[in-house]
Amino acid sequence: MKMKKILLIMLLIAIVVGLGYALSRSGNKKTENNGKMNLVASNFASYDFLRAIVGDSEKFNVDFLLGPGKDSHSYDPSAGDLIKIQNADLFVYVGGGMEKWSDKVLGAIEEPKKVICISDYVDKEDEEEIDGAEEEEEEEEEGAFNEHIWTSPSNAIKMVEILREKVIELDPENKDTYLANAENYINQIKEVDSKIQEVVDNKVRNRLVFGDKMPMQYFINYYKLKVSAAFSGCSTETEPSAATIAYLEKLVKEEKIPVVLYIELNNGRVAKTIADETGENCEALRIQSLHNVSLEDFNNGETWVSLMSRNIEVLKKALQ
Ligand SMILES: [Zn+2]
Repeated sequence: MKMKKILLIMLLIAIVVGLGYALSRSGNKKTENNGKMNLVASNFASYDFLRAIVGDSEKFNVDFLLGPGKDSHSYDPSAGDLIKIQNADLFVYVGGGMEKWSDKVLGAIEEPKKVICISDYVDKEDEEEIDGAEEEEEEEEEGAFNEHIWTSPSNAIKMVEILREKVIELDPENKDTYLANAENYINQIKEVDSKIQEVVDNKVRNRLVFGDKMPMQYFINYYKLKVSAAFSGCSTETEPSAATIAYLEKLVKEEKIPVVLYIELNNGRVAKTIADETGENCEALRIQSLHNVSLEDFNNGETWVSLMSRNIEVLKKALQ
């Protein structure tokens, strides 16, 4: 008898607790995700910066909408992604030609909470023509800016600063923590920047050659380098014409370029073809444009800083 009574009481407690939880969930959206607020970023850099600012705060859940290993130029949000955007306490996107879906999606969202187009807060550059690059089939729209804003350290720092302010608006109580986390990350960005600057200062040549698309215009301009590439930054093409390859091979031979670059998520076949053709003093190497992160790097917890740091040795070989 006694045992039965105890079981009955336990069952009643379970029902009351369960009901209370269900009511609190329906009554307050913020209690979804175990009471955390949702920060959703469309691209890797914004996601990484939010993650760094939030640190180990229990207040936030940070979501990377695009996900690792995918091409942001061919991404289209799924039904699940739309729900994530709808429920976000802060949604961060880049916009422009790379995220054409954003206008439509944001127009359809009911009462969006905090939405920021991060490219409005940095120094935007127009899309520049790249030496050697194939003509785009799709014409860029008038006034189109280059969307790859995160590739210069100065813009990366601006992104951290604006995201830091948005996080503090959502959780002013822990302002000091977010200020400290952001400062720490900005210092890490500055450290990578100064190491890359040192490589650039000691360069014997200033042209980088990409046997790939080239989404690093901001980086190139920031370090005052020159660039040639098979494709412009946003191209979804992967097979350059024979004429493009011939042009790049001639350039590499004439200027004795030691490295032909390719970016993350590309197998480097075109870059290797160009490097092989020009002799044993030339090699194909991967540069991180941070356009996205591979699944392996993502699972290993790599960051903007750790991935950009890989470029130091690559740039030494390419420029010195
Ligand atoms: Zn791109």
